[in-house]
Amino acid sequence: MKSKFIPQMDSVIKCIEDNDVFVVTSHVSPDGDNIGSTLGMHRFLEKIGKKVYHVLDDDIPSNLVFLSKEVEKITSTELNEENYVMLALDCGDEKRICTSDDVKRNASVRVCIDHHASNDASFCEINYIDSKASSTCELVYNIIRRYGDLKSEDYIDEVIASRLYTGLSTDTGNFQYSSTAPSSFEMAKVLLEHGAERDMIIQKLYQSNSPNYYRLLGDALNTLSIAEAPNGQLVASICVSIDMMKKHSIGYNDIDGITTYTRDIENVEVGIFLKEKRKGEIKISLRSKNDIDVSKIAMQFNGGGHVRAAGCTINDTIENAEKIIKERVLRAF
Ligand code: 5GP
Ligand code: MN
Repeated sequence: MKSKFIPQMDSVIKCIEDNDVFVVTSHVSPDGDNIGSTLGMHRFLEKIGKKVYHVLDDDIPSNLVFLSKEVEKITSTELNEENYVMLALDCGDEKRICTSDDVKRNASVRVCIDHHASNDASFCEINYIDSKASSTCELVYNIIRRYGDLKSEDYIDEVIASRLYTGLSTDTGNFQYSSTAPSSFEMAKVLLEHGAERDMIIQKLYQSNSPNYYRLLGDALNTLSIAEAPNGQLVASICVSIDMMKKHSIGYNDIDGITTYTRDIENVEVGIFLKEKRKGEIKISLRSKNDIDVSKIAMQFNGGGHVRAAGCTINDTIENAEKIIKERVLRAF
């Protein structure tokens, strides 16, 4: 199938054609779509002869390290370039871009490629934002396909296919969530045909937890608390403190998988996962099944995200944060 002309996408392609040096980056607390889309774009840009840096001031979660082995990740202070384009991928909010302010400010052009509903296109000069897309990997895929059609060449190789398949899988809950569209399956088909290593990716993403992760999960599930909304639907919350992570030697970026347990309970409409990043700083993940737009709740706390998956931060103790967010979630029913 031929790619479509999409004005925003074609401005990104023009910017890629017109420039030689690129910084690819994404949001704090990297996930599969973050690393997959950034490194998929990284490989594509290198293939067409561009100089590319992967800049990210955060740790890559252990289940995603396999994707980033062949690409050197640098931190903002290590970037030594004067004239570059910054590509911010999968980032709906300027505050969450995981580089220093200098790296953002010194870019000659800033480009945002993203699928968050809460992204108001206010922090980059060029924007390709489609909140209907399953993942940012799907937008990167559209760009690479479109560029290939324009040049009558196929740029997707096994490496790009595997990187993009990873983000497609994680952001669709491996093709379960409502964000999974017919186009997601079409993309998966093409990536598999191009050699995406699905079995390896699935094992790395979903079948490589450490025994200590399960011990922490046990403690986390013991904090489960359930509240009933006025319409009889349920709200579930789970908390993980720094002490719990320390006890089991599990890192802050390695526990995002726990979020789904809050939502996967019968009759639960909204799941809340609270994790303590630092004393007094609580990162909150919100998930919903059918009716509640959790991005609207997250935005009340300067966060954002998607209708069914969003996040924010509350600066308080974990106990207070749980009370505050639960009360706000119950008000949304
Ligand atoms: P998670 O709960 O997995 O951290 O995030 C769910 C979704 O909401 C992701 O798409 C993520 O990028 C977005 N998100 C999480 N936290 C924030 C936040 O503090 N601000 C914004 N704008 N988006 C967030
Ligand atoms: Mn994403």
